[in-house]
Amino acid sequence: MKIPLTRAERTDYRETSLHKDVIEFVQSLRAQTKEVLVESMGRSGEGQDMPVLVLGATSPEDARRRGKPVLLVIANIHAGEVEGKEAILMLARDMTLGPLARYPEKLCLVLVPNYNPDGNDRISKENRKLDLEKLEGQINPEGGVGTRYTGKGINLNRDYMKLEADESRHLAKLYNRWWPHITMDCHTTDGSIHAYHLTYDSANNVASCPAAPVEYVRGTMLPAISRSLEKRTGLRTFFYGNYRNQDDPASGWETYSPLPRYGSNYRGLTGCMDVLLEAYSYVSFRERTVVTIEILKEIFDYAIAHAEEVVRINDSATQPKTVGIEYGPAEDTGEIEIRAFDLESIRARRFTGTVTPFRCRWYSRFVPTKSVERPAAYLIRSDESAAIRKLRDHGIVLEPLRQEALDAEVYTVESVEKTSSPDVGNETRFETVVRATRARCRVEVRDGDLLVRTDQRLGTVAVYLLEPESDDGLVRWGYFDGSLATGREFGVCRVP
Ligand SMILES: [Zn+2]
Repeated sequence: MKIPLTRAERTDYRETSLHKDVIEFVQSLRAQTKEVLVESMGRSGEGQDMPVLVLGATSPEDARRRGKPVLLVIANIHAGEVEGKEAILMLARDMTLGPLARYPEKLCLVLVPNYNPDGNDRISKENRKLDLEKLEGQINPEGGVGTRYTGKGINLNRDYMKLEADESRHLAKLYNRWWPHITMDCHTTDGSIHAYHLTYDSANNVASCPAAPVEYVRGTMLPAISRSLEKRTGLRTFFYGNYRNQDDPASGWETYSPLPRYGSNYRGLTGCMDVLLEAYSYVSFRERTVVTIEILKEIFDYAIAHAEEVVRINDSATQPKTVGIEYGPAEDTGEIEIRAFDLESIRARRFTGTVTPFRCRWYSRFVPTKSVERPAAYLIRSDESAAIRKLRDHGIVLEPLRQEALDAEVYTVESVEKTSSPDVGNETRFETVVRATRARCRVEVRDGDLLVRTDQRLGTVAVYLLEPESDDGLVRWGYFDGSLATGREFGVCRVP
């Protein structure tokens, strides 16, 4: 029997795995051990099979019966950021044929090694090419990497609300089926010159989320993991960010968007724990793979040591009474210490030098500019078929209505505008921005109208999707465009 090696290992990190290498690796592993189940989450936009590896349980019910936390790891969502793909394959091997069997003994691991197979195979040396002047790109494997978008030109990490890509709908199904306690999403980031091997984050839209899981991840879990990882390996990690002024670390450290089109913020709305991992572009491909593996192991160890706590916090999370549906820019969170290189190196765009601490303000707190009270339910009109289909794609439960009329809050559309949408995919996209007023009245229920209760598991997601003024809802993504008009009643009303 031959222990499988990833393409990165076989080529001494000169190349990354094509999707066929991923499939061959998985088949070879499957042939040698019964400890890994291989399932399919479906087919990519261009028809490639998307394998899922399951270790430590045979089904979600089996995992729950055994009291094992369920951990989902997603890799290669941006297929130029390939480290997670290599890391997951190596970990799957080492957890079955190698020395890491302790993880599947205590955890259920659901691994998606290549979430963007079509983008992955569009390999080019031009993708994510290093341009330090602009602080863009990465130190690439010689053979190049895939594309940020899918084969059909969609950015999967802006697709969590609109679910346009086949891949996104498959992931929504997988997520709903396993309902993981902790999800890890593997990326690589360029940006400011700092001295961390990897930066991490979690949901930023805290004022929209069931609070306890995200507060636990941000306040307790990630700092503990960062400390123990550095103690064990010397690898430096911290919360994700960039300087406000690229030449001056003291200018402030600012995180990314709170919009739930990003996976981490979406999963925050679901009340499950989430960890965003961003290996650092300016260390080598090998080092990025190593730091991704080591922090995943550290998270697994943490989940084993705190299994009861993690499960309890997730299971007892309560959905917020008030849900932020529109956010402003990041606000000051307090003072922190950033480790970077000396100023001279930063200004010369060199990512080596003396590791130096800098004090600065941290911009990582987002305050909603608009919030709504959670209604008991929403009524959606039967002719809004595009929006109804999307709700079902998310896994949201819709029920037929029996009454003939009910007391509701009805929205009247005041204005409809378009705004351009950045980095959604190959095509220039616009979002629909609606302003609406709300009034109480008795509404007639028509044939085929549906009720969306907000006390369901995805209730907060439903609020964010259905409120007409939401900054990332179904209105924004055009699913109501057919019926929106100034002065007209909006196709969804609130049921208090
Ligand atoms: Zn990314």
